Amino acid sequence: MPAPDMETLTSLAKRKGFVYPSSDIYGGFGSTWDYGPLGTELIRNVKDAWWRKTVLVRNDVVGLNASILMHPRVWEVSGHIENFKDPLVECPTCRRRYRQDDVSNMHCPHDEDLLTDPRMFNTMFKTYVGPVEDDASVAYLRPETAQSTYVNFKNVLDSSRVRIPFGVAQIGKSFRNEITTGNFIFRSREFEQMELQYFVAPGEDDEAHERWIETRFTWWTDLGVDTQRLRLRSHDADELAHYAKATTDIEYEFPFGWGELEGIANRTDFDLRRHAEASGTDLAYFDESTKSHIVPFVIEPAAGVDRAALAFLADAYTEESIEGRDRVVLKLHPSLAPFKISVFPLARNKAPLVKLATQVAEDLRSRWPVFYDETGSIGRRYARQDEAGTPFAVTVDYESLDNFSVTVRDRDTMEQQRIAIADLEQHFATLLTT
Ligand code: ATP
Repeated sequence: MPAPDMETLTSLAKRKGFVYPSSDIYGGFGSTWDYGPLGTELIRNVKDAWWRKTVLVRNDVVGLNASILMHPRVWEVSGHIENFKDPLVECPTCRRRYRQDDVSNMHCPHDEDLLTDPRMFNTMFKTYVGPVEDDASVAYLRPETAQSTYVNFKNVLDSSRVRIPFGVAQIGKSFRNEITTGNFIFRSREFEQMELQYFVAPGEDDEAHERWIETRFTWWTDLGVDTQRLRLRSHDADELAHYAKATTDIEYEFPFGWGELEGIANRTDFDLRRHAEASGTDLAYFDESTKSHIVPFVIEPAAGVDRAALAFLADAYTEESIEGRDRVVLKLHPSLAPFKISVFPLARNKAPLVKLATQVAEDLRSRWPVFYDETGSIGRRYARQDEAGTPFAVTVDYESLDNFSVTVRDRDTMEQQRIAIADLEQHFATLLTT
């Protein structure tokens, strides 16, 4: 199945309530996006899947939830004020601005004019804290969650029983004043990250880096992403971030081409050393086995929630023609699907069908997100749920009133099975494991 084009995806996302342009009634606001009812569930599921795999099923990772605003010194010491810059080029004729790496041969993609020499542009958002807008009150919206983990390193060591190697995971918003945005939720100025800082003894970093690349790649394929559309790409020396010794990106073939989903960096001991020096706080770890103090190296898998959502949507989007009937179906992995089960009475004007279907929906809802729908033809209702990615549809029909069984339709195969209502919970429990 060829990838859908971005327009198809964007319009499905809006129509079904996955993603809307932000401030839509005012014409939108420069590449900011809002998640609607289905999108909200999708990104919750993406984050849950990441948290489960990265924190909950492991015994070496703990969580952190830090604030977005931090002491401005953090960004000086981390090198972001000096280095978190993109090269900006401008067209002298149409005044359009681009990130230099987004244009080939230094000509304006719009009117072919020669672009200006690059100027470095810091992409951190600046704001002011308190009532006076002066230099003393400058603060930044964080461009990554990682720094708050480093400055809390001692707090975590002192308050939990972690032993190296261990990780600190965090999910939260980050902000970057990107020069060029676009491609829907792929690149926006406000986005969410899922980042892990995994602390290892120096010398063990290369092996840990390899392990995390493998672990993270498997996460995407376990959630059903087509391996043909995934690849690993290691950074050349000249594109490495100022703190990194090596970085490998996991890239996905989006409808507009290959793009980064996640970066897995070996950040060495750069950040801990800099913060220890600047703050005067000892950020070394005492290794009981060797009775020595070490400054750990950091392996950082950093993924974007929004890019993940876009990749999952693009990958799941399928147009099919079966027995002469066309349909659009989102073949989302069940653990990502916003609703797991839909429940329909065959007809809405038959009170006993509605009563039983409502009861079935209610019972299932105590364990899974269930969508109840009694409007429109049954075919229409199936089609709506196919487009929403709901893996299973339960229909209560006349036979149900006689023998308390229902049909269960599988979204992908469209096959229907008759199942006793009493067995439904067990049936779905085996299919909807997290
Ligand atoms: P890019 O090269 O695309 O700008 P990056 O290398 O700067 O990305 P990282 O700093 O490695 O990105 O951030 C980790 C992850 O955060 C990225 O892999 C991506 O999923 C997400 N991310 C970064 N910038 C944005 C953005 N502007 N919009 C949405 N997601 C983003």
